[in-house]
This record gives sequence, C-alpha cells and structure tokens, in this order.
Amino acid sequence: LGRHKDDDRAAHFAYNGVDFSQDNLHVFAGLCAVDTPEHVDQTMRAVAEAGLSCTRMGAYKPRTNPYAFQGHGKRCLPWVFESAGRHGIKVIAMEVTHDGHLEEIHDALEAAGRPTGVMLQIGTRNTQNFELLKHVGRQTDFPVLLKRGFGITLEESLNAAEYLASEGNSRVIFCLRGMKTHLGDPHRNFVDFTHIPVVKRLTRMPVCIDPSHSVGSRAASPDGIMDMMHATAQGVVAGANMILLDVHPAPQKALVDGPQALRLEELPWFLEDVRLAREAY
Ligand code: PEP
Repeated sequence: LGRHKDDDRAAHFAYNGVDFSQDNLHVFAGLCAVDTPEHVDQTMRAVAEAGLSCTRMGAYKPRTNPYAFQGHGKRCLPWVFESAGRHGIKVIAMEVTHDGHLEEIHDALEAAGRPTGVMLQIGTRNTQNFELLKHVGRQTDFPVLLKRGFGITLEESLNAAEYLASEGNSRVIFCLRGMKTHLGDPHRNFVDFTHIPVVKRLTRMPVCIDPSHSVGSRAASPDGIMDMMHATAQGVVAGANMILLDVHPAPQKALVDGPQALRLEELPWFLEDVRLAREAY
C-alpha cells in the first residue's frame, strides 16, 4: 500500500463510479445498525437529498455484550440494497465479521441486480483477525474500509492493511476511530485524527475518520454534538478523505449506539461545517 514509494497500487481507485484517493473527500452518513425498513429508507432519502452518494449500513454487528442486538444479518440485505438503488446510493460501507458474510453480500447484490455497491468494513475488533484479512484480501469485487485497532500500535494496524494488499486487494481505505487509553477520557475513545497526515506520509491509502465512534455520545459536550463537529473539522483540516458518520431518523429508537447518532435534520448543518473545514485544508 505504498509503504515502498515506488509502488503506486493504492494511489487512487474508482469503485461503482466513485473515486477514492488521498486528495478527495466523501461522507458516508448512515445507520450504525440496520433496524427497520422505514428507518433505512428515511435515511437513504435524507442522504441522497443532502447530495451524498454513499452511506453506511450495519447488518452484521460485533457486540461486546452477547445479549445485545447482533444485527439482522443477511435477512436485511435485499431491502437495504433495493432502497439504496431507488435513492441512487452508489456505495454502502458494511462491516463483515466472518468470511461467509462476503458470499452473502455478493449473492444478495447479484439477486437484486447490483443496484448499488458495497465497501467491506473490517471493524476495530478484527483489525488483527489475520484469517479474515486474508480472505477479504483475496477477493477483488469490493474495496475495503479497515479500521485501526483500538489497542495496538499504528504500525501494527498498518501491517494489517498490508495483509489485504499482499493477498491481492489494494483498494483499501484506512479508518481512524479513536483509541482506548487507561487514563479515562471525556469521550468514548481518545480522538486520534492528528494521525491523518502521518498515515498519509507513510502510505498511499486514503484516510477515513469516524467521529461517531471516536467521540461517542453527543452528551459528551454540553452543547450537544459540538465535540463531534469539532473533531470532524480537525480531521478534515488535517486532510481526511472520508468521514464515516452515524445518523438516525429517531436516535432514541436506534438498536445500537443511538446516543452518538446525529438526527437526519442535522445532516445538512454537519455537511456545511465539513465544507467550510475543507476550504481551510
Ligand atoms: C462501526 O463502525 O459500526 C463499528 C462497530 O466501529 P468500530 O469497529 O470502530 O468499533
């Protein structure tokens, strides 16, 4: 992935009509976890109306608590893909936690007539799941969003990206999503967006930020979502190429991570802030 600078494999790639590189910026706003068809459709509509062509939709949810909602899995894929196609959404970031999920996504997309595209997301809990990385790296249908491991070194997370590339898939975006520390933090995780230029210096991967999972609850700041907005602006000014953002039509009803989701009506305001920060980049 360009750690040897004579290798330009990952300098730039296009997927389903969307260009990804270290120069541009895409916002993937959507549901942390798919819950109801109505919420999926409302979210897709709001995303499209805001002028975006990408979203996030969690069908397979890795949860800390085994009794918590684990995601609808493959059952929801047909209606998620159908809604995406209807609203002109070109790319959906979707986490996979098992190699069988790739086949399920591939089959559901084919059955639906490929109305949209999928970017496979590898979550922070699986950054060093080497067998999953190898499996995902061996397929070249889908690009990959690799989250930084929350408790390992940056070097170790970048090596995880090399697992994908060494197996054949260099269409990889690296995502900063905050680190766990033993020091306590007002936020869910210690925000690590100052590492954007570092990753861009060391590799050719486009860099994504996830303000939702970094900052966590909107209650962290007395003025609601301001900590999340400030973190995002810092990330954009530092050169982020992608923003992964949780939104929800009714965050109080969300089955996963509702407290960190922006309401749909806040999305245009968020995007205006991103636009201003991007001007300062
Ligand atoms: C997510 O983006 O849905 C998620 C679970 O993120 P992370 O792997 O960063 O915790």
